[in-house]
This record gives sequence, C-alpha cells and structure tokens, in this order.
Amino acid sequence: MTPTTSKRFASLNIAAKQLKNLGDLGYETMTPIQAQSLPVILSGKDVIAQAKTGSGKTAAFGIGLLEKVDSTKPDVQAMVLCPTRELADQVGRELRSLARAVDNTKLVSLCGGKPFGPQKATLQYGAHIVVGTPGRLLDHLQRGTLHLGKLQTLVFDEADRMLDMGFAEPIKDIMRFVPRKRQTLLFSATYPAEIQAIGTAFLKNPSMVSVDAEHSGEAIEQLFYEVNHHERNKTLLALFCHYKLNAALVFCQTKVDCDQVAAMLQQNHIHALAIHGDLDQRERDRVLLQFANSSCAVLVATDVAARGLDMKSLPAVINYELPRDAQTYIHRIGRTGRAGASGLALSIVTQSEQARLRNIEKYLNEPCVCDVYASLDQDPGYAVRAPMVTVEINAGRKQKFRPGDILGGLTGMGGLPASAIGKIDILDMNSFVAIEKRAVKSTLEFLSEGKIKGRSVKARQI
Ligand code: ADP
Ligand code: MG
Repeated sequence: MTPTTSKRFASLNIAAKQLKNLGDLGYETMTPIQAQSLPVILSGKDVIAQAKTGSGKTAAFGIGLLEKVDSTKPDVQAMVLCPTRELADQVGRELRSLARAVDNTKLVSLCGGKPFGPQKATLQYGAHIVVGTPGRLLDHLQRGTLHLGKLQTLVFDEADRMLDMGFAEPIKDIMRFVPRKRQTLLFSATYPAEIQAIGTAFLKNPSMVSVDAEHSGEAIEQLFYEVNHHERNKTLLALFCHYKLNAALVFCQTKVDCDQVAAMLQQNHIHALAIHGDLDQRERDRVLLQFANSSCAVLVATDVAARGLDMKSLPAVINYELPRDAQTYIHRIGRTGRAGASGLALSIVTQSEQARLRNIEKYLNEPCVCDVYASLDQDPGYAVRAPMVTVEINAGRKQKFRPGDILGGLTGMGGLPASAIGKIDILDMNSFVAIEKRAVKSTLEFLSEGKIKGRSVKARQI
C-alpha cells in the first residue's frame, strides 16, 4: 500500500457536516484517486483524473462540487455528463448520499429514454445539480428548459466512453452553453489521445492525476486458454465447471455472439441473459436489475452495454473473445476483484487473436501464458442457477411505494422471513423485488390476495 491510501478525509479542508456524513457512509479513508485529486479539486483548479473503474471517482468530484453548492440559491451550479443512463443513475445515487451533508440540495437526472415533459417540469421547480447524458442535456439547453448561467462545476465522467459512444459532437455543442468562468473536472478510466484533445479544448491548465491506471492489481488472477475457434463454447462451459463459478460477466465482441452465447449457456443449465445495444431501454433495465438482484447468474454483454454496471462482488469476468485493444481488456477485467476481494479473469483465445494477446502482454508488461482446453475439468451436469427470482409488482413511486412498504407487507401479512427477501427496486409505475426461489410461490399467493400499503396489487414473476 502506498502512503496515500490511508489518508483520512479529515485532512481535507471540507465542511464539518460533510466529514460527519462521510463517516456515516462508512467512508473512513480516501481511496488513492480521492487522496490525489481532492486537494487539487478543492483548490478550484481544473483536473484530469484517470483511475480504473471502482476506484471511487464519483466521490472525488462529488465532494468537490458539493463544497461549492449553495442550496439557498435557485440556480444549477453543477452539471455531470455521463455516457449512459445506468451510469448517470449510479452517479445520481452516490451524489445524493453525499449531498445529505448540504441541506435541501436538489439533484435532477436528465437522461434520454425518459419522457421530456416531466424532466422539464422538475427543472422548473429548481435544481442545484444536474446529472445526465449528453444528448438529452443538449436537448434541454437548446429548448431553453435548462440554464447554466450560474454553473460553477462541470464534470465529464467516464469521458473515454462518452467519446466511444459518439458523444463528441453533442459535448461540443453543450460547451457553447456553459459559462467561461467555471471549474471543469474530467474523469476517465483510460487516457487516449482524444481525451487529451478534450482536455486541451475545454479545460484550463488542468492538473493531471493518475493512479495505477494500467495495473489491474494483484487481486485479479488472469488466465488464458488457447483453443480452436469451434471449441469456444465447450471451453466456456468447462470454465464454469472447472472454477465452480456461480456468477460471471461474459464479454463478447458482437451482439450476435451475445445472443448466441447466452442461448448456448441456457441450454446447458447456466442461467444467463444477454445485454447489448439492440435491447430497448426497458429491456436493458430489466436485465441489469435481474443481474444486480441475483436472479440472473450470468450476464453476457458487449463492452458498451456493460458500461457503468455496478457489480461489487463479481467473482469472475470471462472473455469469450479478446477485445481489440489492451485498454478495453483492462477495463473488462477491472470489474472483478474489487475492493480487496479476489477475482478471476478468464480469457478464451483463438489463433486469430494472437496479436491481441501480444498487445495485452505488452501493456501488462508480463507474459500471458496460455493453457489448453484439456487442462479443464469437464462436467456436462454442472449447472449455475441464480438463488433469487424477481417478482414485479404493478405499483411504484407514483403510488408512493417505498422499499419498506414492500418489505413490511411481505414480512408482516405475507409471513415471509426477511431473509427470503433480497434487493427491492422501485420504479415510477412498478416495483421489483428479489425473492428466494423457495419462497416465490407463497409470495405470489399472498400478493394475489393480500394488500401492500392498503392497496391490492398485481404481481408476477419475470
Ligand atoms: P468509479 O467511478 O471510480 O468507478 P465509484 O465512484 O463508483 O467508482 O466507487 C466505487 C464504490 O466505492 C462505490 O460503491 C462507492 O460508494 C465506494 N467508495 C467510494 N469512495 C469510498 C471511500 N473513500 N471509502 C469506502 N468506499 C468508497
Ligand atoms: Mg465512475
């Protein structure tokens, strides 16, 4: 551990209320990227910060921007640009926890895939912080429903992915609406030339902060299997069995592969769902929700679709095919072995991917030795089942449902033990609750007759 990893938040010049709030959140010491970037951010300078996924970048800019928010003023004072709605939601949640330290802070999420009207109405009630995706933010700016005249802090989060996703143009357009006098912070997992270009164009004498971006950390064990192209499916199945995996994130290069691999896994008793850009927002949300609440064990994803997923305890990442560049490889495997937990990064490599493997070796600066299929235990009977099942209830935020109402209903009148109930997600018009498999039948029976919050509901397993 480097000395900076044990630096306490108390060493920073931040409001006492925020210090207490961080303690309440269980944030004792700063992560390395926080320790390096926060002093500079708090001094008001522009910053480019590079650190791998899961390193605590959100709190770095969140604590910084909140120090300057004056919630007695009605204006938008901070704006955070994110590549996807999932990521914006995640950032919004983290910022909300941090914003508990500043009374009456209003945070509004502005993303595409959601109706424009309600967002416009929310903005009319005032917002101090807006978080969103570039396309929709630009939409609001052009239609005059969002005003940035008093903006103090502008944040580009996951800047590299925003560029990957083709947001360079809308970002350029957005920059015409932001005041010249402002602090700009740019966060990125990687630092390619395009990001340097943005840094030069939109940031003023930025300070560069970088934390072991290349290295994925010793917590991740990386293993490679060289196989023939036609052996990829059976190798994938053998990896699950050999490593006794009960959950994993599998990466494919194409949408077609994603669908085929997920179907192949399903046929072989491995409970998998595919996620890629062809799914509409609602379908994507459902898949992600099921993976996050443990009612889907394996997610098969493209790089873009996996972007911004919050998966804290992922035991393994599997590359069904190596990505074209080493940075993407690092990014993928960085999703396992987080927060000190150990992780497995397993890669299937075919003859035609040898050049990609050499690139990764060069990047890691260590040899990547390949094993063979025959070294893996095989068991056609090996199954991976998710421990939970998701039940959808036809009432949500609009009906003033809160997680406690569902938990209370199911454990009270429903008679379920609290241990049978997992993650509860409340959406606008419906809610999702993860239930242990063996308790699903009684849950559905109770929901078809009983009431939640004095209300009859409809429920079904998804
Ligand atoms: P990144 O944006 O770098 O991918 P996040 O900001 O999403 O990472 O943080 C990853 C996780 O670490 C989050 O769950 C966050 O709540 C947690 N976290 C952030 N800072 C700290 C800290 N100083 N101490 C403990 N947990 C932290
Ligand atoms: Mg982040």
